[in-house]
Amino acid sequence: MRAPTYNGAMYIDSHCHINFPDLAVRMPEILAKMAENKVTHALCVSVDLPDFPQVRALAEQYPHIFASVGVHPDYEDTPEPTVEQLVELSQHPKIVAIGETGLDYYRLEGDLEWQRARFRNHIRASRITRKPLIIHTRAASADTIRILQEEGAGTDQGGVAGVMHCFTESLEVAEAAIAMGFYISFSGIVTFKSAKDLQAVARVVPLERMLIETDSPYLAPVPFRGRTNEPGYVMHIAEYIATLKDVPLAEVARQTSANFFKLFQFAQP
Ligand SMILES: [Zn+2]
Ligand SMILES: [Zn+2]
Repeated sequence: MRAPTYNGAMYIDSHCHINFPDLAVRMPEILAKMAENKVTHALCVSVDLPDFPQVRALAEQYPHIFASVGVHPDYEDTPEPTVEQLVELSQHPKIVAIGETGLDYYRLEGDLEWQRARFRNHIRASRITRKPLIIHTRAASADTIRILQEEGAGTDQGGVAGVMHCFTESLEVAEAAIAMGFYISFSGIVTFKSAKDLQAVARVVPLERMLIETDSPYLAPVPFRGRTNEPGYVMHIAEYIATLKDVPLAEVARQTSANFFKLFQFAQP
């Protein structure tokens, strides 16, 4: 595996959904904005099995786009993935992660045992394939951490850990995840004026454990808040974090990019 090389500042969007219709129809524009803002790579994250072929196709078409395979916890009426299916679909050089998966007790109510069972299947697939997990957690952090521990997701238990994506939880949750070997990924939410608690967390999380993401088309960062988000905007999140932590922007760019390559275990193309 070749070590990544850096050509000045570069940014990586560790989580986006550019296969969603709003973005997919504007692909040339999206790629041009990435180039303009020195966003060199993006990870297009799978949310269900029916859309997975499109996600994979984007990764096959563009050298700097990578992809994952998984079924999002908010997708209730969708084919349920087995461990075997997840393992098989991930056997592809551009599929670098399992997810997004996790728990969401905010969007859905009632008996969510199916969410927890689905989550466990993803963790088992990650342990088998040695591909890291992309974790979505909302209003469910205690169960998320508990199940990750029960299934041995962390590097401390023989797993390969992964990333807590679009992090909005407490410092305590961040520290529990970091202790298991996870990275913490900050989205445009950290740039919002109201996000004081999250900004306090981002100030403390070491750069060595941090990733940045757009989660586009959602959650555009300031100054684009409310508009359709896209991978090129990830640079504004890096700028915000550099100011927040009082470190050079180039350092945020370099370290978050190095973290990305290390976590997803691939050489820079
Ligand atoms: Zn998510
Ligand atoms: Zn997502």
